[in-house]
Amino acid sequence: MKKIVVLTGAGISAESGLKTFRDSDGLWEGYNVEDVATPEAWQRNPKLVQEFYNQRRKTVLEASPNVAHKALAELEQKYDVTIITQNIDDLHERGGSGKVLHLHGIITRSQSDKNANLTYPIKGWELKMGELCELGSQLRAHVVWFGEAVPMIEEAAKECMMADIFILVGSSLAVYPAAGLVNYVPRQVPKYIVDPKIPYMPSDKFIKIEEKATVGVPLLVSELLND
Ligand code: NAD
Repeated sequence: MKKIVVLTGAGISAESGLKTFRDSDGLWEGYNVEDVATPEAWQRNPKLVQEFYNQRRKTVLEASPNVAHKALAELEQKYDVTIITQNIDDLHERGGSGKVLHLHGIITRSQSDKNANLTYPIKGWELKMGELCELGSQLRAHVVWFGEAVPMIEEAAKECMMADIFILVGSSLAVYPAAGLVNYVPRQVPKYIVDPKIPYMPSDKFIKIEEKATVGVPLLVSELLND
C-alpha cells in the first residue's frame, strides 16, 4: 500500500467556520498571538488565556468537518494515510481519519502547566481556573504556544521521509518548525498543494491546485482513488 502524508493548516478548517491567521492580518479572533498564545501571556494573565481557549473550544465543538476533511478520510480505502495537522481542532478525527498527528496539540484536551506530558480529556467547552492536574497545578489547554517546543516534530519528520505522495492543504508555511517539514519529503515524491492563495514555496516542484479546500481536496482525492 502506498503511503500518503498530508500536512494541513488552518485553511482546511476555514470553510467549517474556523478562522485562519493569515486571513485576519496575523490576528487570531481579534487578539495578538503574543497576548494569548505564549508562555509569557499565561504568566501575565492566565485568566485571559484560559478564556480565549475556552471560546475557541466552544467554536470548535459547534463546528463540523467539511467535505475536505471527509475526502481525506476516504483516501484510506486505497492508501496508508497519515495526516499531520497544525490545527488544534479535532475536525480530521470527526471527519473519519484514522491516523492524525497533532503538531500543535488539540484543544479538546487539557494539560498540566508543570508537565506537558500530563494531558486529559475536557468535558464540554469550559476549562476553569482552579481545575488542577494530578500534581496539583493548574490545567491549561493542550496546545503548543509560540516559543514552546514542538514534541511531535521528529515523528512528523519521519512520516514525511517515508511518504510516496505528499499533499499540503491550507497552510501559509509561515510557522516553524512545521513549515520545514516539506523539506523532509524525498525529492522524487509527487507533491500537491491545495490553497486558494498558494504561499511562496522556496524549493521543489509542487503540483498546484489553486482552489479552496472543499473544492480542491475532493478533486485530488477522486483522482488518487482512480489512479
Ligand atoms: P495561516 O492562517 O497562516 O494560513 C492559512 C492558509 O490557508 C493560507 O495559505 C490561506 O491562503 C489558506 N486558506 C484560506 N482559506 C482556505 C480554504 N478555504 N481552503 C484552503 N486553504 C485556505 O495558517 P497555518 O499555516 O495553519 O498557520 C497558523 C497557525 O495557527 C497554526 O500553527 C495553527 O495551529 C494555528 N491555527 C489553528 C486553527 C485551527 O485549529 N483551526 C485556526 C487558526 C490558527
